[in-house]
Amino acid sequence: MGKNLERLRQRLAQIYDINAAANLLEWDQQTYMPPGGADERAYQLATLRRLAHELLVSDETGEALEAARQEVADPDSDSDEARLVWRTGHEYEKSRKVPGEWVSEFNRTTSLAHATWQEARAEADFGRFAPALRNVVELRRQYVSFFAPYDHPYDPLLDDFELGMKTAQVQAVFDALRPRQVALVKAIAEHGSAVQDDFLHQPFDEGKQWQFGLEIAQRLGYDLQRGRQDRSAHPFTTSFGLGDVRITTRLDPNDLTVGLFATLHEAGHAMYEQGISPSLARSPLADGASLGVHESQSRLWENLVGRSRPFWQAFYPRLQEYFPEQLGEVDLERFYRAINKVQPSFIRVEADEATYNLHIMLRFELEQALVAGDLAVADLPLAWNEKMQDYLGLTPPDDAKGVLQDVHWSAGLLGYFPTYALGNLVAAQLWARMAGDIPDLEAQIAAGELSPLLGWMREHVHRHGAKFAPAELVRRVTGNDLTPEPYLDYLQSKFGAIYGL
Ligand code: ZN
Repeated sequence: MGKNLERLRQRLAQIYDINAAANLLEWDQQTYMPPGGADERAYQLATLRRLAHELLVSDETGEALEAARQEVADPDSDSDEARLVWRTGHEYEKSRKVPGEWVSEFNRTTSLAHATWQEARAEADFGRFAPALRNVVELRRQYVSFFAPYDHPYDPLLDDFELGMKTAQVQAVFDALRPRQVALVKAIAEHGSAVQDDFLHQPFDEGKQWQFGLEIAQRLGYDLQRGRQDRSAHPFTTSFGLGDVRITTRLDPNDLTVGLFATLHEAGHAMYEQGISPSLARSPLADGASLGVHESQSRLWENLVGRSRPFWQAFYPRLQEYFPEQLGEVDLERFYRAINKVQPSFIRVEADEATYNLHIMLRFELEQALVAGDLAVADLPLAWNEKMQDYLGLTPPDDAKGVLQDVHWSAGLLGYFPTYALGNLVAAQLWARMAGDIPDLEAQIAAGELSPLLGWMREHVHRHGAKFAPAELVRRVTGNDLTPEPYLDYLQSKFGAIYGL
C-alpha cells in the first residue's frame, strides 16, 4: 500500500475507533445503564459523534483522500484500496455539505424529541409530540436543501441509508409490488382456510426461551466467541469491531415467537458483520453495503429460513423438548402454519410477511409528502389512518397503535423505512440465486445443515463489507437489478399453499 493510502487508512481507523466507542456507550445505554446515567451519556455520545464528524470533514482528511486517490492504480477496480477511496469520497463529500451547527442542532432536537415521543406514545397523545416532530421535519427539510439540486427532495435522505438509490426507483418497485400484495392479502382474508395459533400464546418459561434462542442462533452460525446476546426494550445489533458483534432481544412470557424471531433476525444482521473480510477492519468498509442489504440478511434468516418448513423439520423436535407441555401435542404442520399466520394488524414490527411491506409503503408516501411540504405535521394522524384503511382495511383505535408507533421519526430517521422493504426483496432475490447454486438447499436445511447456506452468503455478500453500492452488489451476485418478482413468487407459493388458494 502506498504512503498516502496508508495515511488515509490511519485517519479513517481513528474515526472508526471513536464511532466504535460511541456504539459501545449506546449499547450500554440500552442494556445496563441505570436511568440516572441518561443526561451525561447524551453529552458523551454527542461529544464522540461530533469528534468523528470533525475528523471526517477536516481539510487534512480531504488532502489525505486526494493524495490517496492519485495512488490508486485503477480507481474502477474491485481492490480494497480503490473501493476505500470511492466510499470515503462519497461520505466525505456528503458530510462536508452539512454545517457543524446543523449537526449539533439536529442531535439536540432529536434527543429531546425522542423523550417527548416516549411520553406521547405512552399516553396515545399525538398533539404532545407534534411540536417536536415539526422541528425534526423542519431540520430535515433544511438538510435536504444542502444537497440541491436533486431530482426529488427525498433523494438525499434515502441516499444516507441506501447509497445511490433514487426515490423514483423505490417508487417503481413499490408500484409493481403493491397491487399484487394487496390482492394476496385480500384472497387470504376472503378464501383462505383458517389458521389456528392459540398455542403460541400461552406461558413459556423465559429462561428456556432464552436458551433455545441462543442455541438456534449458534446453529445458524452466530459465533459467540465474537458476539453475545443481552436483553433490551427494542432488539438491535451493534458492533465494536469485526471481533465483537452483539445482538439484543426481548422476551414475552406469554408469546414464544417474540423473542425467538427477534433473535433469528438480529443473528442474521450479526452474522453479516462477522463475515466481513478482516482486511477491511477499522475502515468505512467494515460495514454492510447498505441498510437494505443488511436487512436482507436479517429477514432471510428470520423468514426464508426461520419460518420455513425444512428448518422446523430439523429443529421442531428440539423445541418440543424445551416445551413439552405447551407443544408436545402440536404437530409440525400446525406449528408451521401458526408461525406463518397472515392477519392485517396495526403494528409494523408484528406484521406477517404478507402484510409487512404495506406498512412500509404507507410510511414511504407520508415521508415524501412531509419532506416535500405537501403534508403538515398536524394532518399526519388523519393521513395515516386513511392509508391504513386503504392498504390494510383497518383504522387504529388510537395514535399509539397508529402514527406514534415507530421510534424513527423522533430520531430524525426519515428515509430509513424503505430499506426494510428493499431488504425483503433482496433476500428473496439472493435466495433464488443461491437455490440455483445449491440444488439440495432445502434438504440440507431439513437435515439441520446450515453451513452451506452461510458459506454461500459469506462468499457472495458478507466478505465484501461495504465495498459495493447496494445496487451494484445485487447485480454482481444475482446478475439482475433489484426486482420484486422473486419476492412476489415466494409469497405467492408459500401462502398459496398454506391457505389453499
Ligand atoms: Zn433489522
